[in-house]
Amino acid sequence: MPRKREHVFESPIGESAADARRRALAIMRALGKAHPDAHIPLVFSNPLELLVATILSAQCTDAKVNEVTAVLFRKYRSAADWASADLATLEDEVHPTGFFRSKARSIKEATRDLVDRHGGGVPDTMEELTALRGIGRKSANVLLAHVFDKPGIIVDTHFTRLSRRMGFTGQFDPVRIERDLMAVVPRKHWSRFSLMLNWHGRVTCYARKPDCEGCAVRRRCPAAASTGQITWKVKVPGKKNGKASAKTKR
Ligand code: SF4
Repeated sequence: MPRKREHVFESPIGESAADARRRALAIMRALGKAHPDAHIPLVFSNPLELLVATILSAQCTDAKVNEVTAVLFRKYRSAADWASADLATLEDEVHPTGFFRSKARSIKEATRDLVDRHGGGVPDTMEELTALRGIGRKSANVLLAHVFDKPGIIVDTHFTRLSRRMGFTGQFDPVRIERDLMAVVPRKHWSRFSLMLNWHGRVTCYARKPDCEGCAVRRRCPAAASTGQITWKVKVPGKKNGKASAKTKR
């Protein structure tokens, strides 16, 4: 059987993999101290609820998802309840989260699969989770990390922005970002590292005006001096000369 090629970490800031690993751990620890209250913002009480919430969270704020699910989780208790919901009614109910047609359909089809193939429970492997409609790698990693206590790098919008600013990846593609960070962060810390970057992105390292002055990891962040602007030349495979003018990209 052909062996899988190992991913070779290429630092966008010319750092060795060992140094990047040390820095990532130091950042994770510092953020842990700075944000002891960091938590997943979606409200849920079991794997099924988190699965539905992640489907609804696409292109929608967590606050709005929580508002909608607070009502829905009282009405639909099991995978069978969701699967047998009337489609038009469900569309109305999830309407405030946007993309209501596709989300309602995803919820019905995914929960139908849970009933038919998983005895109504939520599976705990990347392969089985991503086979469900509406569940991509990001959502699967959210589930693995937050309900199954398994390692997962969760590449959401905050994680993408911060891992790039921090110089751990030069990529934009979520799968490539995930691969870069898997090579830098020790496996047992994937979920914790993801949570810390996500939270830090919400409360400090904002998209438009990151608070670099008040940032707990400014001494370890290459973008600190330029307040979040990425000033290094990021290598992007396939681009001319292997470089992209990412000076103004965040
Ligand atoms: S120093 Fe600035 S850019 Fe770097 S992580 Fe902190 S807030 Fe974000």
